[in-house]
Amino acid sequence: MADAPSPLENEIRRLIALAGPMPIHEYMRLCLTHPQYGYYINRDPLGAAGDFTTAPEITQMFGELIGLWMAAVWRQMGAPENVRIVELGPGRGTLMQDALRAATVVKGFHTAIVLHLVEISPVLQQIQESRLQQFELPMFWHGALADVPGGPSIVIANEFIDALPVHQAVKQPDGWHERVVGVAAEGHLVIGVAPEILPHFEVSMPRRLRAAPPGAIYEWRADDIALELGRRLRNEGAALIIDYGHAHHGLGDTLQAVAGHSFADPLRAPGSADLTAHVDFEALAEGAESMGARVHGPVPQRELFLRLGIEQRAAALKASAPGKAAEIDSACSRLIGGGERGMGELFKAIAIAAPQLGPLPGFETR
Ligand code: SAH
Repeated sequence: MADAPSPLENEIRRLIALAGPMPIHEYMRLCLTHPQYGYYINRDPLGAAGDFTTAPEITQMFGELIGLWMAAVWRQMGAPENVRIVELGPGRGTLMQDALRAATVVKGFHTAIVLHLVEISPVLQQIQESRLQQFELPMFWHGALADVPGGPSIVIANEFIDALPVHQAVKQPDGWHERVVGVAAEGHLVIGVAPEILPHFEVSMPRRLRAAPPGAIYEWRADDIALELGRRLRNEGAALIIDYGHAHHGLGDTLQAVAGHSFADPLRAPGSADLTAHVDFEALAEGAESMGARVHGPVPQRELFLRLGIEQRAAALKASAPGKAAEIDSACSRLIGGGERGMGELFKAIAIAAPQLGPLPGFETR
């Protein structure tokens, strides 16, 4: 017997009945951030008991090395007396907790910091507050990056951009059509294609993908996060963005749902699974550069963490806790390893910075 529809599914069906099939973007937005039933609104999705595990939840080394990156960038900025440390989508606050513990040994850094956390989930905001209050820093929460005040900033985001909704279009003989979610004759939610073409769509597409064959799918994010980062950082500061995705514009449907550490059907039980899509790092870079910022990378996560010294950090941790050597080695290989389980290649890092900052740690060209 089919499960009864979730409250969010009922709402989505109502919206479709009223206004017709909805773009994938709208479906993804409702699933993740509907003010009452959205996936991120009412739960802690992270960790062994949750739906997925992120790098900072695997090992403290991830946050620690990012903390040292922040301190190094702050010094490159001329060690300003006040710096906003901004994290987008801080999850359980684990990354920032490890980062601050490691970074505040750098003289003068701690007293310079004002923390700004961009988080939509009230549940996660509370966890972040309880984790980070020990540092006795001024802390502010915001719903969006646009609400964070300007000024010298260092921005960190791990697995944030993948949770921002994507649009999808499919190439048909007469042009590109938006992919939409509708209701099938049998009553279940189904992905379909809008009947009208997207006017002048190819002009906004990367040139080399315009001649895609019929059936090809192109995904894009229509939010302004890349422009906003470029605008904020072109004069002062830097952002480090880590996520999974492709270094160059590409074709293909990467929308995926994950629940209970397994892949799920994105159309089943909306609001109960994490929906994500790969990050197009070239699109991020182009957006930030168009605002006058300089982009470093992308580099594979493996490359970044090797250059930031993960092997030395692992050796130090093993020396102080020999009983944990196997655990530390396995965490290290998950972060920098390739293959199915490894995050070293699929995950990539990009930095967006003021051009005058010069080369950044982990992104030096050899
Ligand atoms: N960076 C963390 C968590 C990644 S999960 C880690 O690496 O463990 C994605 C995070 O982004 C969660 O904290 C989620 O609540 C937040 N988030 C997702 N969509 C958001 C949005 N539109 N605005 C603000 N925060 C969002």
